[in-house]
Amino acid sequence: MITTNENYSKLQASYLFSDIAKRVSRYQESHPDQSIIKLGIGDVTMPLPQCCIEAFHHAVDEMGAEASFRGYGPEQGYDFLRNVIAEHDFQSRGADVESDEIFISDGAKCDSGNIQEIFSSDITVAIPDPVYPVYLDTNVMAGRTGEYSDGRYQGIVYLDSTIENDFLPALPSQSVDLIYLCFPNNPTGSTISKEGLAKWVDFAHQEKALILFDAAYEAFIKDDSLPKSIFEIPGAEEVAIEFRSFSKNAGFTGTRCAFTVVPKKCRAFDKNGNIEMLHPLWNRRHSTKFNGVSYPVQRAAASIYTTEGKEQTRALIDYYMKNAEVIRSEMSGLGYDCVGGDNSPYIWISGKEDSWAFFDRLLNDAGVVCTPGAGFGKCGEGYIRLSAFNSYENVTSAMERIKKIL
Ligand code: PLP
Repeated sequence: MITTNENYSKLQASYLFSDIAKRVSRYQESHPDQSIIKLGIGDVTMPLPQCCIEAFHHAVDEMGAEASFRGYGPEQGYDFLRNVIAEHDFQSRGADVESDEIFISDGAKCDSGNIQEIFSSDITVAIPDPVYPVYLDTNVMAGRTGEYSDGRYQGIVYLDSTIENDFLPALPSQSVDLIYLCFPNNPTGSTISKEGLAKWVDFAHQEKALILFDAAYEAFIKDDSLPKSIFEIPGAEEVAIEFRSFSKNAGFTGTRCAFTVVPKKCRAFDKNGNIEMLHPLWNRRHSTKFNGVSYPVQRAAASIYTTEGKEQTRALIDYYMKNAEVIRSEMSGLGYDCVGGDNSPYIWISGKEDSWAFFDRLLNDAGVVCTPGAGFGKCGEGYIRLSAFNSYENVTSAMERIKKIL
């Protein structure tokens, strides 16, 4: 008899974005003449940088000629991309990451979801609240949690991110084995200092734990004293894996390219407490189950490390960050406490009321769509997330509309 994975029945259906869509379409039906401005979804809106377009065209031409055609590529990614990533994203910032520690993939979502497969099912997992839902759901699917009750899964150690701790969760007081951290954070937009991150690295060493560090938004960090990579922290290479993505810095959400760094020194333990290195495990998993990212996409990704590519992606990020600045200063001016928006594209706003009530007010009175914080976890209740991913014109008119009603 074929039986299903019963852990799937524990999953809570994510109604967040479908609920938002339903409310938006209801509003649209009753206000057919009112335009809606969406500042809710974390998807980029600007086209790919010119360097990527040119690299794509060139690579497609190569694929069309017998002499330069390429079939299956290396699952871990082509060296031309891994080398520039190692040099520009890590070595230039003093992080000792080599190109063969970089695994090119089709998304930080897939990687952060798949990575837990190389750990045993009885480990204790610490996950921030509020959180990017992939970390939680993939551990539920793998059977690392009990049932869901009162907004939380049993067995998970939740790392509360609240106004009291400046949205930087404290080290857990109990023993944990796997820790998810995301900075700049989605959804709160908070960032962590080198000293703050070093505490987590020390904790992981003491606890024999591992940190999964999601740096999908590192490109939005403007304050150069902040770490862009956990590998800027000495000793992190033994206790951390990092996820990166081209989705938000180069507009690749529809193009798909990302990478994961698993240092050769990164370790876990077997049941007897003997050290087991994670690089060969992830290499095995990746090359068994993943076919590699297409050649033209990797060429397009590599182009952002050229001088022109850096200028063009900087311009993209600056564009969104100007939006973030407008949102943050307008909302603060209206008396709302805001986090993020200075080194991240998300602004986390204390709504002074229930998340969904605030959502409805912005939609029904101003025609502006946000994301209710409650959708990201229990600690998100009372907050909304506004995203800088839209045109400057839309962002400024959304703010004008909000100012009129609040
Ligand atoms: N990590 C975080 C924290 C995100 O917010 C997102 C996307 O919104 C991702 C990862 C997904 O990145 P990718 O598009 O590379 O799958």
